[in-house]
Amino acid sequence: MNMGVKKGRKGLKPALFIDRDGTLMEEVDHCCDPAHVRVYPGASEELTKARSLGWATIIVTNQSGIGRGYFTVEQFESVQRELLRQLGDVIDASYMAPDHPDRPSPRRKPAPGMLMEAAAEHGLDLSRSWMIGDKAIDIECGRNAGTRTILVETGYGKKTSECTPDHRSPTVAEAIRIALAS
Ligand SMILES: [Mg+2]
Repeated sequence: MNMGVKKGRKGLKPALFIDRDGTLMEEVDHCCDPAHVRVYPGASEELTKARSLGWATIIVTNQSGIGRGYFTVEQFESVQRELLRQLGDVIDASYMAPDHPDRPSPRRKPAPGMLMEAAAEHGLDLSRSWMIGDKAIDIECGRNAGTRTILVETGYGKKTSECTPDHRSPTVAEAIRIALAS
C-alpha cells in the first residue's frame, strides 16, 4: 500500500511543477481563446492521485504573448479558468511570467524565479520535486531550481533534442506516474 510522501525537513512537501502549453493542454501558438483549450487525457486523474499522496501541484507557464502585446492578462486568465475547469480541482497554484524573451527576467523560464516563489509560498522541498515540460527551457528551469526533470514528447517535446532531462515521457500522465514512483 502506498502511504504517500513523507513530509521532509521542516514539513516541506514535494511538488510537481508542470508547464501548461504543450504539456497539460494541446499546444496552440499563443493561446488566448478558451475555446481552444484541450487538456491531454489522463492528466486530471494522475494529478488527483498526486495530491492524495501529499504532492503539491503547481502550473508554471511563460506567456510572452502578453509581453509581445499579442493578448492581455485578462485573455490569459480566461484561458486559465477554462483549463482549470476542464482539469477539475487538481491544481494548488498557477504561476505565470508575461515577460518578453528579449528582456532579462528572474521569473521567465529557464530562470528559476517562479519555482522559488512557489516554494516559499507553499512550503515546498525543491530537491524532492519535479519539473515537467515540453521544451528545453522547462528542463533547464527545473535544473536551475534544483528539481528533477521530465521532458514530455507532446507539444514541442518531440522536436526537442538539445537537452538532457532525467526522463523522457510520451505524455504528461505517464510523466506524473514516473514522478510519483520516484
Ligand atoms: Mg510548453
